[in-house]
Amino acid sequence: MPELPEVELVKRSLTSLIGLKIKDVVFSDTVISGHKNDRMTIVKEPIESFLNIRNSTIINIKRRGKYMYFELMNDEGILYMISHLGMSGGFFIVNTLDEITEANYKKHWHVQFHLSNGQILVYSDIRRFGEVRTIRDLNDFLPFKNMAPEYTEETAKNYFVETLKSNRYDNSYIKAIIMDAKIIPGVGNIYASEALYRSGILPTRRVKNISKKRLELLFDKIVEVFELSLNAGGLTISDYRSTTGESGSMQTKFKVYGQKFCPKGHEIKTKTIGQRNTYYCTTCQR
Ligand SMILES: [Zn+2]
Repeated sequence: MPELPEVELVKRSLTSLIGLKIKDVVFSDTVISGHKNDRMTIVKEPIESFLNIRNSTIINIKRRGKYMYFELMNDEGILYMISHLGMSGGFFIVNTLDEITEANYKKHWHVQFHLSNGQILVYSDIRRFGEVRTIRDLNDFLPFKNMAPEYTEETAKNYFVETLKSNRYDNSYIKAIIMDAKIIPGVGNIYASEALYRSGILPTRRVKNISKKRLELLFDKIVEVFELSLNAGGLTISDYRSTTGESGSMQTKFKVYGQKFCPKGHEIKTKTIGQRNTYYCTTCQR
């Protein structure tokens, strides 16, 4: 499942689209029949209103948390197309669908954006947990409203520590809380296990029992894991593949996630926290 580094890498891989115009949009049969049956399959608004992006120019592509958004300009002004990749979504830039080399992604395409230079931007999604939607004002998009600052912002570390020290989250498991975008955006199940191991904190520790100093260290380790992954080209595991066609190698740098032993040779424990499998070492983490 894509976490912040994977979404950031997809975003970066699409920068060549800036300046191009979206001429037409084509939907898969799955999207069309889903909408006919009142299910907002992939496109989270009526098809007709989504089609407002036709004849708009891509001004910029940005990321916020695990969301990516396209800043578009048409006759009526600025319009945003926001996308979340869900469990297995991805974008491809191709001349024809056949150029998508992963058979599953070729088969499970859902939206094609035909561009002014003849290329096609394809949104594919095997498990269909991802989404695209348009919005005129980013402030109207609820997930952005309460989202904590991006880790790259100067205020992020202080925000992280102060929010956790505000008593509101005292009895929460630290593992569950760092996966909440209101605390820090972009940490998913895998990077949560990795950052907690690197900071020596047990995932089952309650927030109130962690000192300010250790919370600061945890923030630094989350940043470290993000940066390590960005430099490694992200993750290539299970049904998630980098959509640039290149394989990321972050999975080779895991210290606990999916491992049997930690780097110091202790046996790794697993436990379900917040419905997700968590990996940790009871010797290295306390
Ligand atoms: Zn250990």
